[in-house]
Amino acid sequence: MLIAGAGMAGLCAAARARELGAEPVVLEKGDRAGGSMLLSSCVVWRYRSFEEFRAQCHEGDERLQRLVFDRLDEGLEWLESLGAPVVERDTGNPLTTGVRFDPAGLTEALARAAGEVVFHKPVTVTVTVTDGPLVLATGGFQGDPGLVERFVKPAGELRLRANPWSAGDGLRVGLERGAALTDGLDEFYGRNMADVDFSESEFVPLAQVYGRFARILNENGEEFFDGEVSWSELDLVQATARQPSARAWYVLDEEALDQRVRGRPVREIVAEAPTRVELSELPFEAPAGAIAAVRVAAAITHTIGGLPVDEAARVLDEQGEPIEGLFAAGADVGGISTGGYASGLASALVLGLTAAEAAR
Ligand SMILES: Cc1cc2nc3c(=O)[nH]c(=O)nc-3n(C[C@H](O)[C@H](O)[C@H](O)COP(=O)(O)OP(=O)(O)OC[C@H]3O[C@@H](n4cnc5c(N)ncnc54)[C@H](O)[C@@H]3O)c2cc1C
Repeated sequence: MLIAGAGMAGLCAAARARELGAEPVVLEKGDRAGGSMLLSSCVVWRYRSFEEFRAQCHEGDERLQRLVFDRLDEGLEWLESLGAPVVERDTGNPLTTGVRFDPAGLTEALARAAGEVVFHKPVTVTVTVTDGPLVLATGGFQGDPGLVERFVKPAGELRLRANPWSAGDGLRVGLERGAALTDGLDEFYGRNMADVDFSESEFVPLAQVYGRFARILNENGEEFFDGEVSWSELDLVQATARQPSARAWYVLDEEALDQRVRGRPVREIVAEAPTRVELSELPFEAPAGAIAAVRVAAAITHTIGGLPVDEAARVLDEQGEPIEGLFAAGADVGGISTGGYASGLASALVLGLTAAEAAR
């Protein structure tokens, strides 16, 4: 069994396959294990009820949502049984339940259980069927600006807020073998970030996740977001991606600055934002009552559309039939959280386990 990618989905698949007696080989394009999981906040979560999951991600594939929902708790126990260190048993969000792991510790525990990982070894379309079952776990296509432009269609280039190697290789292999594509190819998980260049260690601190309290304007001074911003703010990030230069301004009044986000006052986050400007520097007249303004740019963490799979993680063709020997897990799989937001780590864990069980 070949597994493409030593991130969350690939390492889970390899560790489970080995547990079941198989001898998988993991091919990793990058120079380290962990993919974007290692850079993440590492909260592996689900909605508290399946009905909430459906309501939040109403356009997603119900069968896959059911699979992720039903298997997550057992998956979390399995991660702990491998020695993954738990940081917190609470997501801090009343809608969801889950566990926050230490990302380095989780990567280490999974890599230990996964066995052989070959680095600097990207899986490409030249992998043949005779190489045996192949699990695609390359982490989505956000790292390829051409694919992002084609499918996500932003109005300006999106900054990458993810590992640099996930650039659609799984998608290419799937398409080469006759795979179909899911809906939601224009959707993505990401954050509106302070509009500056940033390093991996700034992925979390430079995220500006208080748009729901702000007036949101584009560079022309037009308010472009209708209705209420969702709790995850993914709808706002995706809408920002479609504005001129994929940028926006968050303009805040006293009431907005008094709000709290993840235990921190918005006032404090705004004060630290490197793209906070004086109101007189705005390219349009500040709305009445405004006190502060921050320029943000949409950044992409992973794509939401991708390859369709069935409940055994088998990649499906245009007729909805499984393609012999081809499996996918993690962000290479599309259609799970279409229309909303769900934990990418949770679906990578569950689909990784499922793929290993089906492929061995
Ligand atoms: C800052 C940040 C915070 C986040 N916080 C959370 C969170 O709290 N909770 C949550 O659920 N999600 C979170 N995420 C998202 C989460 O990290 C991803 O959903 C998850 O890692 C997806 O798993 P994956 O296995 O599909 O991809 P990854 O974990 O990224 O792994 C993909 C791997 O495939 C490799 N690869 C790429 N191409 C090839 C190829 N051709 N051949 C071989 N290998 C290849 C890559 O190098 C990488 O190692 C966060 C992400 C970031 C960046």
